[in-house]
Amino acid sequence: MRITDLREMTCRIDAPIRNAVIDFSDMTVSLVAIVTDEYRDGRPVIGYGFNSNGRYGQGGLLRERIFPRIRRAEPESLLDDAGASFRPRAIVDAAMRNEKPGGHGERAVAVGIVDMAAWDLVGKLAGKPVSQVLNDAAANRVWTYAAGGYYHPDKDIEALRAELLRYVGLGYRTVKMKIGGAPLAEDMARVEAALDALPPGCRLAVDANGRYSPAEALACANALSGHDLAWYEEPVDPLDYAGLAAVADVYPGSIATGENLLSRQDAENLLRYGGLRPDRDLLQMDPVLSYGLTEYLRTIDLAREHGWPPAGLLPHGGHQFNLHIAAALGLGGCEAYPGVFAPFGGFADGERVDAGQARVPDAPGLGLELKPALRPLLDRLAT
Ligand code: MG
Repeated sequence: MRITDLREMTCRIDAPIRNAVIDFSDMTVSLVAIVTDEYRDGRPVIGYGFNSNGRYGQGGLLRERIFPRIRRAEPESLLDDAGASFRPRAIVDAAMRNEKPGGHGERAVAVGIVDMAAWDLVGKLAGKPVSQVLNDAAANRVWTYAAGGYYHPDKDIEALRAELLRYVGLGYRTVKMKIGGAPLAEDMARVEAALDALPPGCRLAVDANGRYSPAEALACANALSGHDLAWYEEPVDPLDYAGLAAVADVYPGSIATGENLLSRQDAENLLRYGGLRPDRDLLQMDPVLSYGLTEYLRTIDLAREHGWPPAGLLPHGGHQFNLHIAAALGLGGCEAYPGVFAPFGGFADGERVDAGQARVPDAPGLGLELKPALRPLLDRLAT
């Protein structure tokens, strides 16, 4: 068994929305295929992966550095002991050959995409969903929340309320909106209108996307403190651990952060110096953006050493890979972007979220083929 080809296609997302820091009109995604010489139903078995939204496509890095290293690896060195499947860790190790420590950045994303494709491949070869490859007793439902409430030209408070209520109608019970992209008083009016719109049993989270200075983050923490929010996300720059600790010192509710930490080493610094509280704060490190599930398994161990149960982890990046990971590892849940970042974001078509719970697809691998809008792109890369 061997890899016969590695392919990448850069796709545009083209979403006319923005958070407090970036707009997504130029956002791209790398779709990767690992093609093998194994056949099922007359077709080669192919593993697919793509990066979570928010980081751009990685075509250059993949073609210039990552793919050539995997191609040069001894084919047997990428297989498990029985030679019956691939070992994602071996593929990641081959991808990382001759890379110095540190300098995580974009490389962590490129490797994470390959890792995702490797897990999809392993699931397909085993004829099992990835969640069950990881854990025979994986849950088949996962708590999820709707991340939306973006800023958009011409979007007023009424449109924001309608959007959040649409998510409730889709079955979500926790919804998230952006803050930090408008003056605080204006954002607080948006937050209060959203809280006012949500029916009983539903909760609101807010996300500043690391936009605030520590002083602004503290002012916002004080303004938010009077409201019962699910969490206050990324108040300060992702690497400003002292600033975050100052916010954690005064904000009584939950703080969530970690989506922009691209390595286990960065996660360790967050846990050492960020002042976060394991009894209430949430860790959102994104496996695909930080060297993949292979490395994320180590990050979970690290979080446990710092007092976080798996239920305190809530990975960023609303796609099916995280659904499988959360189901298998007993995480708190995962994010979803209903109707945004199509066709990559979101779960299988026809799957309804029920009381905030999403069903894990039972197709072999990640079940990406269950998304009809993604299918043409997968087919294009397969031929
Ligand atoms: Mg966020």
